[in-house]
Amino acid sequence: MNREENRLRTLYADIIVDISHEKLDKTFQYRVPERLRDRLEPGACVMIPFGNGNRLIKGYVVSIGDQCQFAPEKIKEIAGLPEKETGVEDKMIALADQETTESRLIALAGWMKENYGSTMIQALKTVLPAKQTVKKLEHRQLVRLMNREELLSLLGECERKKQVAKARLLKALSEQETIPYEWITGKLGVSAATVNSIVKVGAAKLVSSESYRNPVTVQAEETTHNTLSSEQQTIVTEVLTDFDAGRRQTYLIHGITGSGKTEVYMQLIGEMIKRGRQAIVLIPEIALTYQTLLRFYQRFGDRVSVMNSTLSPGEKYDQCERAKAGEIDVIIGPRSALFTPFPNLGLIVMDEEQENSYKSESTPKYHARETAMEVAKLYKASVVLGSATPSLEAYYRAGKGEYRLFHLTKRLTGGELPTVHTVDLRQELKEGNRSIFSRKLQELMTDRLSKGQQTILFLNRRGYAGFVSCRACGEVMKCPHCDVSLSEHKGGRLICHYCGYTQPLPKLCPKCGSKYILGFKAGTQQIEDKLKELYPGVRTLRMDADTTRTKDSYEKILSAFSNGEADVLIGTQMIVKGHDFPKVTLVGILAADLSLNASDYRAGERTFQLLTQAVGRAGRGKEPGQAVIQTYDPDHYSITTAKEQNYEAFYGQEIEYRKMMRYPPVWNMLYILCASKNEAAASEAAVALMGKIDQIVRENSEKIFSIGPSDAPVAKISDVYRKVIYVKTREYQTLVILKDGLEAFIKDNRLYQNVAVGFDFNPVNGF
Ligand code: ADP
Ligand code: ZN
Ligand code: ZN
Repeated sequence: MNREENRLRTLYADIIVDISHEKLDKTFQYRVPERLRDRLEPGACVMIPFGNGNRLIKGYVVSIGDQCQFAPEKIKEIAGLPEKETGVEDKMIALADQETTESRLIALAGWMKENYGSTMIQALKTVLPAKQTVKKLEHRQLVRLMNREELLSLLGECERKKQVAKARLLKALSEQETIPYEWITGKLGVSAATVNSIVKVGAAKLVSSESYRNPVTVQAEETTHNTLSSEQQTIVTEVLTDFDAGRRQTYLIHGITGSGKTEVYMQLIGEMIKRGRQAIVLIPEIALTYQTLLRFYQRFGDRVSVMNSTLSPGEKYDQCERAKAGEIDVIIGPRSALFTPFPNLGLIVMDEEQENSYKSESTPKYHARETAMEVAKLYKASVVLGSATPSLEAYYRAGKGEYRLFHLTKRLTGGELPTVHTVDLRQELKEGNRSIFSRKLQELMTDRLSKGQQTILFLNRRGYAGFVSCRACGEVMKCPHCDVSLSEHKGGRLICHYCGYTQPLPKLCPKCGSKYILGFKAGTQQIEDKLKELYPGVRTLRMDADTTRTKDSYEKILSAFSNGEADVLIGTQMIVKGHDFPKVTLVGILAADLSLNASDYRAGERTFQLLTQAVGRAGRGKEPGQAVIQTYDPDHYSITTAKEQNYEAFYGQEIEYRKMMRYPPVWNMLYILCASKNEAAASEAAVALMGKIDQIVRENSEKIFSIGPSDAPVAKISDVYRKVIYVKTREYQTLVILKDGLEAFIKDNRLYQNVAVGFDFNPVNGF
């Protein structure tokens, strides 16, 4: 269609009249009048005649196209643009346009639909809060009645009697006058009976409802701020200087845990509030602990609110209403907190930006980092990313000058970095030790048990997809085309999940001829059993997917461990975050290779991050810590650099690998999933899609690599067959154009009637 033809076509706009969630499935189509055709974009606010009486009401444009869904003569025309509202504008705040929060969010949805691949409705549902009639929930608070000395003496008594849960609650009460009831039963893991026993002795009282909205007793303590170190002060000054000069940027703070990042965030937020702006603080759900929340509450009082997955949709909606009404200045929460409709957002903080949980697992599969930057653009806000081990993406962008990079190099809490030993498991086998615990680890565990200090044993099964390796020489079976580990499948075959390459499971190691070539099967349960065999009477706690199934069990296990209720905590990657354990002086990483050989190009990065975090768990208290990394590949750069806690060295090696293999962040990648109950239909759809991709590739001048279709890593989920294709190009935008082409191809094509096609840009979790 050429330009001239385009001018002749009538355009139609899909419009929603109420952007509350429940009505989202319904949009109304209106004709776009000639005079408005160049002025409307998704998100624009328009006036439309509505209903039988053609009453003029406000609506929002969701999408624009040239397809008319009804008889053209029946379609009404958009009446015009709303008159500029006057007098609402705060003179202090120079909003560039008269944009409303709603139109910003709709524009954001349009951006997400385009850049991550979804329908507009899916995108809108992601960004707009579900409208719910909020039941007046009874919010209860525990309010302290005794003074601190009385509480502390009661606390001492409980500790002597080993009433750990009660002691935990009293300790929290001694730090804070008011505690929301949900925190007590949730984050603190204290039962209702224990709360009652405290109320009975007159230490505290329960108050309900009204006071929740304005918990006067949680006062912001303006006076007790730390004086920032010069490194911290530089960051704050630079960010604010940019901000006040109208420069909006993204900043990356690289600083180990305890280097004062959170303090910097809080200082910046305080400054934003002074400027009449609001702030969003993103924190991975798992790190959203009682201690973190407490710090924010103590600093900003009731101007802070928390958004997390335990809130009901009604409560979430309530939070959004409070934000819109200007009742709060700061929201803390996981990635969905990004859509909090603040009137005048000034800052988005994203702590631990490397976390995979920042990528949505449902369509649109957005990443909070890029989305935060888009939100910031719409609001003219700044973005601050923070991490101890930045993602390759963020560090790469910082290197290219897209982000401003800052370093915090000193640990402010004191405490030295632990001494790290690497143990070569091949050597252990050679010298006759077949136990899962190396001799070094056993020696150190014995020592800790005798001193009453705690140990953490870490088994990282994340992303583990059944790789096969040689126990004698460490050789791992890898795909010759993709340089990722092959996965063992039933029937003794090895498969590459990227390209579908397959080969039989060898009987002997192709490198050294040993017959000890097998998969790694041990789980946390077996490790606990083996530990108890080795140390009869040892007190253990286990934390994995099995033991954390029920609500709050995660917090309860962590609280119990931090209260000294066990000598050893055995767990999966969940344990490396959250609470500080001052009594832990030893961390054992049982098999670093589990994550190193995950069938994923990010395996090296994940291993470095996990090892660095795990090692950092030891020695947070006064006693110096030690860590033992057990591995079949002690010379791998992810392990040697984690041992030295040297991020720069790791990054240098890893980015070379990404460049060479054309993986993100240097290249961009798009996974396409075809899913259907009918395997033949899924295959046929995937093959046709591949044909279409080839055609687009031929027409495009940029280099595009496409691989597949092959079975997804999990080839069938509840009777749905899954076929994947993956595409790599240098430019992200090329992938977006490719996706648009495929969407057009899929639409109205009978091959896709019973096949769902999903897109995932730069996936972090695989399919
Ligand atoms: P991070 O977020 O990088 O882990 P935090 O901001 O939590 O670091 O700081 C670690 C500890 O150091 C906290 O207990 C905090 O109160 C303290 N701290 C941070 N900045 C300062 C400072 N400028 N002076 C004194 N103590 C500080
Ligand atoms: Zn071998
Ligand atoms: Zn391959």
